[in-house]
Amino acid sequence: RSGSTQNMAANIKVVVRVRPPNPKEMELNSRVVIDVVDDRMLVFDPKEEQLPFYHQGVQQPNRNFLKRPNKELKFVFDNVCGVNSSNQDVFETTTKDILASLMDGYNCSVFVYGATGAGKTFTMIGTQENPGITYLTMEHLFYSMNSFEKEREFDISVSYIEVYNENVFDLLKPSKTPLQLREDNKYGVMVAGITLKSIKTSEELLSMLESGNKNRTQHPTDANAESSRSHAVFQVYITMRYRISSQVRMVKLSMIDLAGSERASATGCVGQRFKEGANINRSLLSLGNCINKLADGGSYVPYRDSKLTRLLKDSLGGNCKTVMIANVSPSSLSYEDTYNTLKYAARANKI
Ligand code: ADP
Ligand code: MG
Repeated sequence: RSGSTQNMAANIKVVVRVRPPNPKEMELNSRVVIDVVDDRMLVFDPKEEQLPFYHQGVQQPNRNFLKRPNKELKFVFDNVCGVNSSNQDVFETTTKDILASLMDGYNCSVFVYGATGAGKTFTMIGTQENPGITYLTMEHLFYSMNSFEKEREFDISVSYIEVYNENVFDLLKPSKTPLQLREDNKYGVMVAGITLKSIKTSEELLSMLESGNKNRTQHPTDANAESSRSHAVFQVYITMRYRISSQVRMVKLSMIDLAGSERASATGCVGQRFKEGANINRSLLSLGNCINKLADGGSYVPYRDSKLTRLLKDSLGGNCKTVMIANVSPSSLSYEDTYNTLKYAARANKI
């Protein structure tokens, strides 16, 4: 195993977050299919006697009758955040560390992955009372910048775009015309005509994220009326000028709320919806392939296979830090989605 492989392994972190059961999952007496063993290990589809049904005390007649045996699969990740974890906890175990790399001049990226309803947007954006990791990260970033104030001058601007059906759209200035990707020698991958907003405080950021999020492309599908079919990409560009040397350095932080990972086939879609599903899976698949190739230390990384990976080409690999947060429901109602998400995450984690 080469040194570069080990370095790369250290540069990718995979965290699984299990959200609390929702009212529907409680009402339908669904089974808990995730047993969080400790802060690094979980068991998927454990033996039934180990976990309760949500509806305490209600007998489930013949529930093992004709049922396939439990999978009892053990998974180990860099971190497992259980149902009681807060966005603050998730922040502490995921993005807090990468801010140091950012200040050292390395691009960083953070992904939330999972099926629709698994908790991606809650993790990324959160609510007023429970702000998500984007807000917490930015708050910490402003704090970090302050601590370097004596030696460096900072300039910071942000963009918020979505990749929908392999097209890029601006969430800060909605338009039906897709934006084009360009590769610039100096600045790396650029989106032509993108809106850049300068931001002074983390509070300003929150309202911007909320309004941008309302512009995301959403389509009611059979499976889920709130199904999110686009990848939302929030990017922060930091220019640092060192006061003594006058040297200028630019770094980029990308935070990506990925489209729901559920299969197009499972949502009963045809035509346009089916095409969306195929394109969503193309970006997700290609992202997984790139991360795997990087983790294996491969020299050829297939960035060009999808819009999302082209866009993030200079933020994945090399000395960039990457964090993948896989969101799952704890309930048997999402059995297949959870299983697929854990496999995707384990693949990214397997080094
Ligand atoms: P996704 O973006 O993956 O489709 P959401 O983040 O919208 O999923 O979550 C679906 C629902 O579950 C939302 O109502 C959200 O507020 C709630 N939810 C998700 N994660 C949590 C959590 N950790 N704690 C409390 N509620 C959550
Ligand atoms: Mg969402």
